[in-house]
Amino acid sequence: MNIILLGPPGAGKGTQAQRLVERCGMRQLSTGDMLRAAVKAGTPVGIKAKAVMERGELVSDEIVSALIGEELDSMGDDAGAIFDGYPRTAAQAEALEGILGSRGRSLDYVIEIDVDEDALVERITGRFSCATCGKGYHDTFEQPRMPGVCDKCGGTEFKRRKDDNAETVRTRLEEYRAKTAPILPIYDARGIVRKVNGMADMDDVTEAIEKILAG
Ligand code: AMP
Repeated sequence: MNIILLGPPGAGKGTQAQRLVERCGMRQLSTGDMLRAAVKAGTPVGIKAKAVMERGELVSDEIVSALIGEELDSMGDDAGAIFDGYPRTAAQAEALEGILGSRGRSLDYVIEIDVDEDALVERITGRFSCATCGKGYHDTFEQPRMPGVCDKCGGTEFKRRKDDNAETVRTRLEEYRAKTAPILPIYDARGIVRKVNGMADMDDVTEAIEKILAG
């Protein structure tokens, strides 16, 4: 199964992808995570992407599509793929068709996570994650059960994304509206879009997605 999680920054794509990985054994392909790893490692891609990401703009279609192709090649043929944060433009959506087709895969569903835009800034500016295992948390909505200790791996170091600030979020939302939202009708015309209510409780969102995947 190959699915796209589509929604604005802060919709919960990463959280839901992590949950599906744990429950269904699918693989999460997050171009944001891949780019952050490249920035951290100081690779040529990372050097190119760093300033663009800090401004909240989109990295080039060629770079992210190449990353997705490489990641798919590192997976077993029968592992399901969850595309998280990709595609984000019409050109990426088109590239994905070729990338999947040449590997004998095709898209099953595009899960649109529908959220109230007013909630996004609070959701994004409050989030942080475990520096060891990447589990996501939030200042208001989900603190670790024991303060300062990761629920999942016991790690004690946490980090915040540099681009999770109110000003950059505005640019990221504008990019979403201008370049990403317009790709939905392309998938809608193919009858593969399924909408879930991203304002619902996180567990309910996961359940709704699992129901869709179960057919
Ligand atoms: P994310 O973690 O998905 O919020 O992505 C963080 C940042 O990485 C974005 O604001 C973009 O600068 C960049 N990025 C991630 N995925 C893509 C993509 N598919 N196309 C272009 N830029 C991307």
